[in-house]
Formats: sequence, structure tokens, C-alpha cells
Amino acid sequence: MSNITETQILDCLKDVRDPEIGRSLIDLKMVKQARSTADGGIDIEIDLPTHAYPRRERIAQSIEAVVMAKLPDVSKITVKFSVNTRGKDTGGSIGLRVKNVVAVGSGKGGVGKSTVAASLAYGLHLYGARVGLMDADVYGPSIPHMLGLHARPEIVDEPGDDGKTIRRIEPPVVNGLKVMSMGLFVAPDEAVVWRGPMLHGAITQFLKDTRWGELDYLIIDLPPGTGDVSLTLSQLLGLAGAVVVCTPQEVALLDAVKALNMFRKVKIPVLGMVENMSGDIFGRGGTMRKAAELGVPFLGEIPMNAQLRVNGDAGRIADNFADDNPSAKFLRHMCEQTAMQIARQLLESPTMPTLEIL
Ligand code: ADP
Repeated sequence: MSNITETQILDCLKDVRDPEIGRSLIDLKMVKQARSTADGGIDIEIDLPTHAYPRRERIAQSIEAVVMAKLPDVSKITVKFSVNTRGKDTGGSIGLRVKNVVAVGSGKGGVGKSTVAASLAYGLHLYGARVGLMDADVYGPSIPHMLGLHARPEIVDEPGDDGKTIRRIEPPVVNGLKVMSMGLFVAPDEAVVWRGPMLHGAITQFLKDTRWGELDYLIIDLPPGTGDVSLTLSQLLGLAGAVVVCTPQEVALLDAVKALNMFRKVKIPVLGMVENMSGDIFGRGGTMRKAAELGVPFLGEIPMNAQLRVNGDAGRIADNFADDNPSAKFLRHMCEQTAMQIARQLLESPTMPTLEIL
């Protein structure tokens, strides 16, 4: 029987920093278990704040290095990982059991906002998280098309607390995602003209009446530009934050800055910016520069790639994540950075940093 105590192990782990956040694993409360084994080894279990944690091997290596230096008699070190998705859990007042609600917005249409929203949702699901995707882009709901979803959601009767039946919407599950969209209720060619109060009502109903169940992330694809839906969301729940998508040109970046300001006005924290359609025609790197200038995290770039459009048009967004698809690594990186930014905000400080833009 080894005589290494838990205190000795924890003492070693104080010196191991999380490679993403840069603080000790102990401070971040990421050590779930630390014990010695009968054969002179030690078992450590690390609780990651998100399924999309990018550098678990680095943590394992750092732990091994520190333990070997401080406790040279240990025969074997086993590092296990578990995930406890951190979240604000603020949907309680409207009955949502979602740890993190993430809005995806843009200054104008056509920049790939829906592509990013759907990819973020599907990517996080691939990492193992429970994810929902809500298409709140009432002016151009493209999520069902991108996911190849045509079925209308089922309406189910549920007994309410007061004994009366309540009607709820069962979201269809596509590619492992629970999906709801205005596009499932209106014909594709039907022009929907939504005014403020109607929009507010529809979004509220979508959030409350859909049987989302328990989710780690609910990704919301916002309409471009305007702040109506963001304001409604901000009044209903505490969002984890917003991702702003833009293309690299200067004009598009100006629109993105407007979107950032809009989120600031409605008190939704900005998680960061994503550059989409980077490449020869539009240039590259503009968003990263703008993000740095504004002090906003940069969450990654997605190069222009015809296959992305073809797969989106064919309802096969999941194919973009295949190992041999050139977009896959960019999409995965964007998902990891977004998930880590959410975790970082929760782990680093209870208060959100304020943005000073314009
Ligand atoms: P938005 O939601 O901002 O209006 P979409 O996500 O609907 O934009 O994208 C607009 C069009 O551009 C779609 O046909 C989509 O498939 C395509 N697209 C999006 N991102 C890329 C990219 N990185 N490379 C090539 N085509 C893209």
C-alpha cells in the first residue's frame, strides 16, 4: 500500500496550470479526484469545463511532469477526464433547463451566420455535449434547409402543474441536435413580415413551449442586424453570450461593429468574433485585427470553400466535419474556442468584462 496522501497529490496539482486559462487546476476546481492506489501509483480525475476542451493531453503531461518531480517514488500516474459543462443556468424563470444559451449574430445577411450557428451546434454535439439549435432568423430561416429537415414538429399535450393540459412542441432531432425553426411552420416561399410584438411573442413561445429538455448548449441563430430578437432574449434569460460573424472586408467589419454595439446595448456579453469566407477574394485577417483593436476575443476563421456551400445547400452540414474535409479543422477550432470562451468567463470571474466600443 502506498503511503502518498491526498494532500501530497493536491499539493503537486497546485503547481499545474490549466493550459487554456493559465490558472492552477486547484483554483479552477478542476480536480475531481486524487488518490493513491494499492500498487504505489496515483489516480487523478480532472473535471473539464466543456466537452470541447482542446488540450487535455497537455494537462495530463503537465501533471505527470510535476508529480514525477515532486513524488519520484510514484510507480504509475493515471489521469482520467470527465466533463462537467459549466454554465450560467439562467433559463429557470421560463422553464429552460439549458446551461448555456449562445446567440449567433451578424451585422448583415449573407456572411454565413447560419452556417456558423449550425456548425457550432453540430460541432459541440460531436464533442459529446447535449445541444439544441433554434433558428430565430424569422426573415430567412435557413437552418432546416441546411440540416435537410422537412418534417413538421409534433405538438404534444402535457399535464401542467395545475392539472390542465399544456400544448408543447416536440423538436425534431437531426444529426443529434434538437432543432426548432420558424421555417418549420411557414412555407419556404411565404414572406413573413414580423412586427416587434409578434416577433417577441414568437421567440418567447419558441423558447418556452419547445421541449428542449436538458441541454448543455442552446445555439440561437439570430436575424441579421436588428436588435429586436436580442432584446427579447436578453429580457427572458441570461445568455452565455453572443458570437458575431463577419467577412474580412472593411465594410462588413463596420457592420460587425454595429452588431457588437447592439449586443452591448441589450446587455448580452460578446464571446468573440468569427471571420467567415476568408480567402483570396475577400482577403484575410481583417476580423482578427478588428477584434484585437476592440479587445474582443477572436474565435477563429473559416476559409471560403465551395464544399461548405454545396453541403449547406444539400442539407449535409455534418459532412463539413468529416476528417478529409478541408473545413473541418477550422470548424472544430471555432467550436473549441467558443466553448472555452464561455468556460473562461465563468471560471475566471463571476462578472462579465464590459466592452468599450466606439
Ligand atoms: P447568413 O446566415 O449570414 O445569411 P448563410 O450561412 O446562409 O449566411 O450563408 C450564405 C451562403 O454562403 C450559403 O449558401 C452558405 O452555404 C455559403 N457559405 C457560408 N460560409 C461559407 C464559406 N466559408 N465558404 C463558402 N460558402 C459559404
